[in-house]
Amino acid sequence: MRRPFLPALLAAAIGLSTWMPRAQAGETIEQVLLRSQAQRLADRGPALNPPPDSVQKLRTSFERLKAQAPHLADVELLLVGGDLYAESLFGRRAVAVSAAVGELPERERLLMLAHELGHQALGHWQALSGLYHQHVPAEVRRDLTDPVARVLGLEGSALSWRHEFEADAWGYRLARPLELGVEDAVGLLLRQGVLGDSPTHPGTRRRLLQLRMLENEMTGLPVPEQFRQMQVSWRGDGAGSGR
Ligand SMILES: [Zn+2]
Repeated sequence: MRRPFLPALLAAAIGLSTWMPRAQAGETIEQVLLRSQAQRLADRGPALNPPPDSVQKLRTSFERLKAQAPHLADVELLLVGGDLYAESLFGRRAVAVSAAVGELPERERLLMLAHELGHQALGHWQALSGLYHQHVPAEVRRDLTDPVARVLGLEGSALSWRHEFEADAWGYRLARPLELGVEDAVGLLLRQGVLGDSPTHPGTRRRLLQLRMLENEMTGLPVPEQFRQMQVSWRGDGAGSGR
């Protein structure tokens, strides 16, 4: 359960050097990202003998959410193996999940799936690949990527944080009418422990604060000033942008 919400974006992309050696001759950066995600899925393998009731719960929750967002009706659910996991796929209208998501309490499952649908709804793959393409417009070669690696790492990280916050907020708004609340987000996020900030993801505390602020806004309650002070919205607003 390394990252239930993981990577809608580019864990691999942050350190260019992490994946660079694996770029094949003539590949574009989009192809490298797509291939790295395909490899992650292949490493997980197919879902072997998933409990039918977990699969059914997954499908039911996914359909409940899509019923709230008709423009996502064509997004597919892809079942993969391994521990608790969900990921919005690059360049495809699909969300990959493990059968373990079917074993979560329903409200946590709804939030987890809604977050991934948020990445789809908000066009995050297009934005991410656009950023990468802007810096590495031609084939991936060390002599072309080394000079932009630092700035791309910083901008990629800022964009990834932004996407995570956006997917959290979008997903929460989508799922909330299905009778859930911030306490369900707490339950879900704490399954991976309290994580600090990482290059791709804001830490647990920031994410929960954002949802708490959102909940207050949605219900017309004041947002305590200390919440605002504790949460720096986007990594790109601060030192992380490098500009
Ligand atoms: Zn995400």
